[in-house]
Formats: sequence, C-alpha cells, structure tokens
Amino acid sequence: MVEKKKYLYGPVPSRRLGRSLGIDVVPFKVCTLDCVYCQLGGTTQKTLRRGDFVPVEAILAELRDKLAEGLEADFITIGGSGEPTLNSRLGELIDGIKKITNIPVAILTNGTLLCKQDVRADCAKADVVLPSLDAGDEQAFQRINRPHPGLSIEELISGLCAFRKEFTGRIWLEVFIIEGFNTDNEQIAKIKSAIGRIRPDKVQLNTAVRPTAEPGIKSLDAKKLQAIAEKLGENCEVIADFALPHQTRQVGDKAEALLSMLKRRPCSLSDICSALGMSRNEALKYIVFLQQHGGLDSERKGGITFFKAN
Ligand code: SF4
Repeated sequence: MVEKKKYLYGPVPSRRLGRSLGIDVVPFKVCTLDCVYCQLGGTTQKTLRRGDFVPVEAILAELRDKLAEGLEADFITIGGSGEPTLNSRLGELIDGIKKITNIPVAILTNGTLLCKQDVRADCAKADVVLPSLDAGDEQAFQRINRPHPGLSIEELISGLCAFRKEFTGRIWLEVFIIEGFNTDNEQIAKIKSAIGRIRPDKVQLNTAVRPTAEPGIKSLDAKKLQAIAEKLGENCEVIADFALPHQTRQVGDKAEALLSMLKRRPCSLSDICSALGMSRNEALKYIVFLQQHGGLDSERKGGITFFKAN
C-alpha cells in the first residue's frame, strides 16, 4: 500500500512551473485575502498573523521519502490551500529543502505580507517567487481580493517593490483578470503603472479556468486576454494551456479513477476528496487537468459546484 502524503502533492503538471511538487504549509483556507475567484471556497481564517502551522520536520521527512522514490520535478512549489507566507517557519523550511535537493524552490503567494521584513527574508531564499496583483486601486482591491482590514493596495505594491530591491531571483507576477472587475481601460492603466514600479521579470495573465467559489465570475477568452497582455507591456504573457508529453503518465491512475467515478454520477469537491482519499488541493489539480483536456464539466446546484464527466 502506498503511504498517503500529508503535506506533499504531485508532481502535477503546472502551466507556470512544469512538473511541480506541491507543499501545503498552512491549514485549509487560512489566508490574508478572500478573493472572489478563489476556487477553494471562502476563507475560514482571515489573518495577518504568522504562525507555526505545520511541522517542518514532518514535511522534510515526506520530501526525503519522495526523493528516495526517484522524484522527478522541475520545481518544489510552496503554496497550498491558503497563504503560505503566513507560515512563520517558511525560511527554515526552504533552508531544509535546499540541504537535501537541488530542485529549485518556488513560492506561490498573494504577496500581501511582503511589506514585512521577515517575510521578505524568508521568500528571498526561494529561486522563483510568484506573487499576485489583481487590482490597480483600493476600490478594485476591496472588490476582487476582499482583504483583511489591516491591508491596503498601496502596502501590497510597496511590499512588492521592496522585495524586488532585495531579491536576486525571479519574480513572476500573476494578474488575475475577471470580466467586469478589472477589465476597463482605467483599471488596466493603473495595474500597468504598478507593474512599472514593481519591475517583475514576467507578468502572467490568468483568468477563471477553474471553478470558483463565487458564482458569476466570468473568465475572458484568449483573444481578450491577449489584447490586455499587449496593453500591459512586453514582458506580459497569457498563461497558455500546458501540455507535457509525459503528463498523462504522471497523473494517469488518479485522473482515471476520478473520471470513472464522475462517469457514474456528478460529485462535489468534498465527495471527490472523501471517495478518493485526496486533499482538496490534490483533487483540484486533477480536476483542472481533466478540464483542460476536455474530459470534465461542472455545474452549480444549491451553491455547490458539481463535476461531471463529459
Ligand atoms: S489569495 Fe489565494 S488562497 Fe487566498 S483567497 Fe485569494 S485565491 Fe484563495
């Protein structure tokens, strides 16, 4: 019997990071924000306080096992089902990873805590940091990201600028575009001006390709996203669908188990997790994979998203 990993998931194909081994470092939906487009559901604990959420030694022990099994990954990605910089032992974790493998470390963060020196010092230990900026002003920030009351858009942008000055690795800034929220010319111009201050290595445009917690979140088609990318400048790209030749082998068994279950009946995310013994994050990765490959559809009933096989 294969032992179930508690903190690691994958490697799974990622559009931004290739084969990515995920590490979950905060409890489910502990976050500084409550984004309207979050696919994980509402934030359960909105906080700015860092904490010792998960035992670093236990994560490193799982990683050692995974490496011994012959792990092949392009990145070890610290992210998960909440905001990873809320973990106060993030720096210690990255130091530990670097001692046992040369696989580069990436952090998926919403960037809101980069205004804190200790968070910047921890994140600077990674090779790539992927923060987010979805709004150009306070009103759009409140509407899209529904932040903790102690946060402001100016603090987010200044934190990103301060991090850029201190960090010698790569910063790939994600901008999540939602029809009617941040698509007008004024908002795009303000986001562009913030990007000019932050100077990330790349800007990556995304839209709601995953099912979101809130109804009515509209994605943009590739043509519209491309037009916005052109407005935002040369280093801006639309994150295209990602297809590795060997990804079917990597996700094969679990994706097939999920698909055969959904052929029998539509299931919610919770149904999938309990039936297949997966974390929400892991299940979502397979759902996204199948959606991108046309195998899956979703519908909302009574406020819950149900997935079904095509
Ligand atoms: S920052 Fe990420 S985890 Fe937090 S609410 Fe937004 S999308 Fe969800």
